[in-house]
Amino acid sequence: MILRSRGRDGPGAAAPAQEQEAPMTKVVRCACGLHLRDTDETQLIARVQQHAREAHDLDLNAEQVRAMMEIEQE
Ligand SMILES: [Zn+2]
Repeated sequence: MILRSRGRDGPGAAAPAQEQEAPMTKVVRCACGLHLRDTDETQLIARVQQHAREAHDLDLNAEQVRAMMEIEQE
């Protein structure tokens, strides 16, 4: 019988199998009034970057988008 420790994989290396029961919705409020929201931060960043490029001719990096991001309160 071999028991393999799961402790060797660092957190964030790959998506874990289990998901959180209640994912938090994150929202970015653009200066133009548009609100973009998603539970997936990576998806939200991509959508904000796309919106900024198409609507405002702005190239935002992921850090800039994260700085604008808020947790949506229900
Ligand atoms: Zn905008």
